Amino acid sequence: MTTWVCKACGTQYPPSDEPPGACPICQDPRQYIPSDGGQQWLSWGEFVDGHRIEIRDDNGILGVGCEPEFAIGQRALLVKSAAGNVLWDCTPYFDDTAAQRIAAEGGLAGIAISHPHFYSAMVEWAHAFGCPVWLHEAERKWVMRPDPLVRFWSGETNALGGGLTLVRCGGHFEGSQVLHWAEKRVLLTGDTVHVIPDRRYVSFMYSYPNLIPLPPSKVQAIAKALEPHDFDAIYGSWWGRIVARDGSNVVRRSAERYLRAVTEPGLPS
Ligand SMILES: [Zn+2]
Ligand SMILES: [Zn+2]
Repeated sequence: MTTWVCKACGTQYPPSDEPPGACPICQDPRQYIPSDGGQQWLSWGEFVDGHRIEIRDDNGILGVGCEPEFAIGQRALLVKSAAGNVLWDCTPYFDDTAAQRIAAEGGLAGIAISHPHFYSAMVEWAHAFGCPVWLHEAERKWVMRPDPLVRFWSGETNALGGGLTLVRCGGHFEGSQVLHWAEKRVLLTGDTVHVIPDRRYVSFMYSYPNLIPLPPSKVQAIAKALEPHDFDAIYGSWWGRIVARDGSNVVRRSAERYLRAVTEPGLPS
């Protein structure tokens, strides 16, 4: 028996003799099944043998990813708050080296993940540190490896202590959330709010790989959910995907630009 990892999205599945028949995360229209080779799996041992943990600074916050890049390629962030360390988002990879490196940083008090595409190896990480994983209840059905450490919250905001607040924005997923870090005036977004290449704007999509946009009402709802929270920097899902300053205004004007672009006869300025 081994756990299995989906090669396309990095989701870890519960222990079994044979790989799962399908990956519902990839079958969903927000992800995809690769055209070359279809649905493929790695046993946990095969995956760990071929990769290693990557932990390094990403613009002032410790980033946690794996090398070589795997599946969606996101990196997590280690948030050191007054109430303990929180791992924001997750990576498919975990091993003893990762456990030792994070323990040396003070371990984990909790894990919070933006949305199902990054649930990845969350249970592996949670078991190692005996800490809860905070997910929005709207995404309960996308947990492929259920576990008592996975905790669901309801409503629009969830204060974790230490000035950290989970904010449900919806959009990409109904329960897509971001983490506001008041002390540092930082917003960690996953791809709930997507940092684009010029770092002066962000954008919002139902599906990024399949280029399916969100309706105006959903983008307005994201902007509204973030309105009460002041922040300068915005940290997206990948290494270096960071808006350095003026984040609150960047979200506001990006939502306005988006709405002009998708509302006839509007065009982006
Ligand atoms: Zn998958
Ligand atoms: Zn996503």
